[in-house]
Amino acid sequence: MENRLPLIAANWKMHKTIGEAVSFTEDLQKETAPSVDREVVIAPPFTALDAVRRTISRPDFKLAAQNCHCEEQGAFTGEISAVMLKDAGCDYAIIGHSERRHLFGETDDMVHRKLVAVFRHGMVPILCVGETLEQREDGSTFKVVDAQVQQAVLGLNPQEARLLVIAYEPVWAIGTGKTATPGQAQEVHAFIRERYGALCDKSVANATRILYGGSVKPDNVDSLMDQPDIDGLLVGGASLEVNSFKRIVQFKTTKK
Ligand code: PEP
Repeated sequence: MENRLPLIAANWKMHKTIGEAVSFTEDLQKETAPSVDREVVIAPPFTALDAVRRTISRPDFKLAAQNCHCEEQGAFTGEISAVMLKDAGCDYAIIGHSERRHLFGETDDMVHRKLVAVFRHGMVPILCVGETLEQREDGSTFKVVDAQVQQAVLGLNPQEARLLVIAYEPVWAIGTGKTATPGQAQEVHAFIRERYGALCDKSVANATRILYGGSVKPDNVDSLMDQPDIDGLLVGGASLEVNSFKRIVQFKTTKK
């Protein structure tokens, strides 16, 4: 198997003041040993990006934005561009999260344009894809996920294609307490890798990290991370408390 560095990301959504974000980051760094075999990514709200960047003191901790506008600047009240996120010290930006798609009407085309903007400014997108409950029940999971990935990655060069992080997040599992079983998640991850390989190149797809997201908790983290095609996790609710996120960061796996 390719050597894919596990990536564990905390998506705080619209939670935490600057002070709370800083003390969480300090505590997590104190309570975990620096590691070369995993990467921890913190995605605070925009207001806390700079403060969290200043608090990060280890190379295994990285900073992510939760969203990004596709234009560089202009009359887009309330939006933040990739130029600004790079300036704030972001390494990654989460793009196409299901809450952005479903609550804020983001289309596949918008997701594609944001992804291009993030790469253009030297950051790495974490592209979220995933089916709704209705789509799972009517048997269209693979079709939906395949279309979301294909449209998002149009025109990427080989280096970008290799760097891209994909997060499979079944919408029915996000914030619901219902986790996909490790088998269900593995099945979709393997499918995404195979299709991504057909789209770009097999060796690129073998090096691409595919994260799982959807009600990840301390008690299911190890079985998820044991799956051969699950290379990390995107964690919402359970990333808000240091103790639960610490256990997730310290996942144990027998995977070689
Ligand atoms: C998410 O926000 O991407 C997520 C997976 O949330 P939760 O872990 O709360 O389901």
